Amino acid sequence: MFNLGSADSLTKTKDEKGKHVKLLVLGSGPAGYAAALYAARAELEPVVLTGMQLGGQAALTFTIENYPGFPKGVGGPELGELFQKQAENFGATTEFDVASSVDFSKKPLEVTTDNRKYLADSVIITTGANPNPLDIPGEKELVGRGVSYCATCDGWFFKDKKVVVVGGGDSALEEALFITRYASEITIIHRRDELRAGAILQNRALEHEKIKFIWDTVLTEVVGEEKVESVKLKNVKSNEVSTLEADGVFIFIGHTPNTSIFEDQLEKDELGYLIVNHMMETNVPGVFAAGEVADPHFRQVVTSAGMGSAAAIQATRYLEAQEA
Ligand code: NAP
Repeated sequence: MFNLGSADSLTKTKDEKGKHVKLLVLGSGPAGYAAALYAARAELEPVVLTGMQLGGQAALTFTIENYPGFPKGVGGPELGELFQKQAENFGATTEFDVASSVDFSKKPLEVTTDNRKYLADSVIITTGANPNPLDIPGEKELVGRGVSYCATCDGWFFKDKKVVVVGGGDSALEEALFITRYASEITIIHRRDELRAGAILQNRALEHEKIKFIWDTVLTEVVGEEKVESVKLKNVKSNEVSTLEADGVFIFIGHTPNTSIFEDQLEKDELGYLIVNHMMETNVPGVFAAGEVADPHFRQVVTSAGMGSAAAIQATRYLEAQEA
């Protein structure tokens, strides 16, 4: 099991002056714990704020088959736990807490959480990204009642049921393949007639007997009273509309980075991702970013972990230069 942080973090102490730390890591996914591991080994006694999801998105992935060192694959939660343990073995601390605002115009840098204020000499942001919604009628209303963004979390509820998966990327296909463990029939609905996903996943999905595809089609509505009953579809080439019965709708159409609390503080690109240079530095000295919050392109566990370790190495150099 994951360690859910120190008891201290769970008591609502409002420390007005703030707790001083050398390095604060925001986020507990692969980037966060890789940063914490390197920072702990540099004796910076890093404090990791878990955010809402301990272990990040990787912890919601059933099996990770492309993280080096695990030839048979490794469970997402298991890998997250190993990351946490390794960082903590060298002196990192985990706080089950969420940053709610920051003030990077001050030195030390200020980070306010649900429980207290931190005064940090440096900060590494690894707050990741959240799944995008389709923003169609019925979607929001039926979340948790058939609409889901996480097959690992909710797939089990669809034993012997009919499920629709939206998207044509790696996530959609990987999650659809996962749902084949439970559902009797999976229909992947993609807005084009060509998949974005990599070849291995494409072949597995295209060959799977439980999976079929509807191409050039978008969902226009999720229909249901108490729970999902059907989806309305529109073919984007012919404009033909149709209805498909379904018990579940899984949506995997990309992500939005968790950067809202850095509004007006850090530079972002047009999609909201934090802009960093090759040393993981943001535009504010002492503030670094790593993982999916700063990477709209690769978004892999291994690349996020690599970015996290690079950010920690650079943060260590930054702090050494401050002391010199
Ligand atoms: P993605 O690659 O951005 O794919 C999103 C998919 O959703 C695309 O097929 C896109 O269609 C579709 N889409 C986007 N907006 C839509 C909308 N409004 N309505 C209908 N469809 C929409 O996202 P992802 O699959 O989450 O993957 C993100 C990154 O993580 C990628 O770099 C991927 O390689 C990586 N990843 C890797 C693995 C793995 O290696 N095992 C697993 C998961 C994710 P279009 O194709 O038409 O744009």
